[in-house]
Amino acid sequence: MVVKINENYLKLESSYLFVEVARREAEFQKNHPDADIIKMGIGDVTKPLVPKVVEAFKSAVDEMAEADSFKGYGPEQGYDFLANAIIETDFKPYGVSLDTDEIFISDGAKCDTGNIQELFDLNNKVAVTDPVYTVYVDTNVMAGRTGFMNDDGMYDGLVYLKCNAENDFIPELPEEPVDIIYLCYPNNPTGTTLTKEQLKVFVDYARENKSVILFDAAYEKFINEDNVPHSIYEIEGAKEVAIEFRSFSKTAGFTGTRCAYTVVPKELKGYTEDGEEQSLNALWNRRQTTKFNGVSYPVQKAAEAALSKEGQEQIKEVIDYYMENAKVIRESLTDLGLQVYGGVSSPYIWVKTPNNMDSWAFFDLLLNEANVIGTPGSGFGPSGEGYLRLTAFNTLENTKEAMDRISKLDF
Ligand code: PLP
Repeated sequence: MVVKINENYLKLESSYLFVEVARREAEFQKNHPDADIIKMGIGDVTKPLVPKVVEAFKSAVDEMAEADSFKGYGPEQGYDFLANAIIETDFKPYGVSLDTDEIFISDGAKCDTGNIQELFDLNNKVAVTDPVYTVYVDTNVMAGRTGFMNDDGMYDGLVYLKCNAENDFIPELPEEPVDIIYLCYPNNPTGTTLTKEQLKVFVDYARENKSVILFDAAYEKFINEDNVPHSIYEIEGAKEVAIEFRSFSKTAGFTGTRCAYTVVPKELKGYTEDGEEQSLNALWNRRQTTKFNGVSYPVQKAAEAALSKEGQEQIKEVIDYYMENAKVIRESLTDLGLQVYGGVSSPYIWVKTPNNMDSWAFFDLLLNEANVIGTPGSGFGPSGEGYLRLTAFNTLENTKEAMDRISKLDF
């Protein structure tokens, strides 16, 4: 007898992208010890938690230090005080209330967007936009919903919805019928958005085909355009077909603090093999209560503070700071004659490589000649080839310096 592994894991491509970026950076630094490399590759925030959040966080830790106010296990779905703040801030207009039990607080949108596929049969057809936040793809590979990656850089069995400059980064509806569609808007990695009308096309498709949309709104707070929906539930009928994921990570600097939430509407149904309707909310509740034990009390108090009026004002200043960087990047690169996308309602700027360079060649050029690190677009999927992602999560000084160095390059 030997232990057999889940061989689906062997289908996964190694996490080539960030490992290779780190390897090239380390090699360059070794050969050029004095080079001052500016990192605009990784999508992590750099500004600290805002004062209102820190105050609530500390005070909740103090509560944990006293027998009278100490908290043990909390509800797996999260405390009502935070669910209520989430509802009041964002979801009340869509009929969500504490009584409807549609909010599930968690320690990250990465886990939630990765775990949600457990609710669905392995034979469902899954569509992702291309390029893509790779968690959606890899978790479906692990589950066994795909074959191996083919020569075109796509996993057999998955449907890829191309998003590039040719279609203005607006995915077309899948040609073959699909059951599950992952959408992420504002998008990581392209930084682009969909208007209400464009998102409605997908909601209507899902209603017609009884499909489910998994809508990742992790960058919602960065939206600066009027006709861009903050929630998929702004679209009529979306509660029948969509799960929405939100996170405090990028919006409130919680990447290291960990708090997110997922909205699973009661209207949303899946079906058994026999065509019997089942509530996805009930299934997710069962999944979470079995496999998850909730987010720590101080973190939930910190997240509640992030949603308070003062917290929101302080966070807005941080987001405005990042978005000023995004503007500097967009305007500087446009002035150089480069095509840039995103960066208006997102901290990501998606740059078309000059002279049809491939993504890695442009990456190397920026590293070697300007000592600036981006992320090659090809690492996010085949349609990312010929693009590079820059992020606005650096200091304004470094961002300006990086643009200054890039402006001196000869493309
Ligand atoms: N969803 C998208 C699109 C992301 O880009 C990220 C992080 O980069 C996440 C989810 C992960 O969020 P969290 O930190 O809440 O796990």
